[in-house]
Amino acid sequence: MDVYGLIGNPVGHSLSPPMHEAAYDELGIEARYVTFEPEAAVPAIEAATTLGVAGLNVTIPFKQDVLDVVEPDDLAARIGAVNTVEFTADGPVGYNTDAVGAVRALREHDVSLDGEAVVVGAGGAGRAVAFGLADAGMGVRIANRTVERAHDLAGAVPDASGHGLDDLPTLLADADVLVNATSVGMDEDRSPVPADALHGDLTVLDAVYSPIETRLLRDAAAAGATTVDGAWMLLYQGVEAFERWTGRDAPVEAMNAALRARL
Ligand code: NAP
Repeated sequence: MDVYGLIGNPVGHSLSPPMHEAAYDELGIEARYVTFEPEAAVPAIEAATTLGVAGLNVTIPFKQDVLDVVEPDDLAARIGAVNTVEFTADGPVGYNTDAVGAVRALREHDVSLDGEAVVVGAGGAGRAVAFGLADAGMGVRIANRTVERAHDLAGAVPDASGHGLDDLPTLLADADVLVNATSVGMDEDRSPVPADALHGDLTVLDAVYSPIETRLLRDAAAAGATTVDGAWMLLYQGVEAFERWTGRDAPVEAMNAALRARL
């Protein structure tokens, strides 16, 4: 029986256990996915290595701390955060599947990623999404409440610029993709983007998945934009982790059904 899991604090309401266990059930894999709330990341990774844990997801507040004991791949090193750890014979390797999750969520909705993207937010999710979209070939405009963070991130991401939130109407006028990577809208009916800046040529991905239909997505649909909810990003970060750990194609439909049944 393989053991996979999640370290973070808090992790009590995580949707990862049902999503991954649905995949094991669907493919007949003998495995369990469990959550851990350790005091610190480094001893947790060391203990998991010793115990032979097969793979770990990592969430707040440990996504940066684990870099002290895992070897990040190139993308995770550039983002500066790891959310997936694979335990190899050469030691633990770290990936950032939030970046790939956002890119795959858009691609699976047939969004072409060769134009201009506006990313709102420059925290953990904003960093992952900005690097992911830039690597996929998009020009990236980063807007953040704390404008210095947007400038710092834009300095690290190829073909990117940093802005304050006041620039959003101008930035969005000729953008193809908008991603909300702030926590605005989580458990509240607020949007970080003025509704009148949205238009029908946009695809809007909201990283927030609670509620599943955010104020931003409602405004975007009313403006005629294509909408992609945050559960798709959550799904594909999990799909990517599953495929790295097992080397098998993930049963995406079963994972999606398990996730959406709990949202
Ligand atoms: P974080 O590192 O704490 O960053 C928070 C971001 O939100 C920062 O850019 C912050 O701006 C901004 N922000 C917070 N309050 C704001 C306000 N009142 N007005 C304007 N901007 C505000 O958090 P995170 O890890 O990036 O997570 C952000 C969101 O993404 C969360 O809702 C999380 O659940 C979601 N997420 C979803 C997925 C998924 O798979 N769907 C994956 C990862 C994260 P400042 O820099 O100015 O503070």
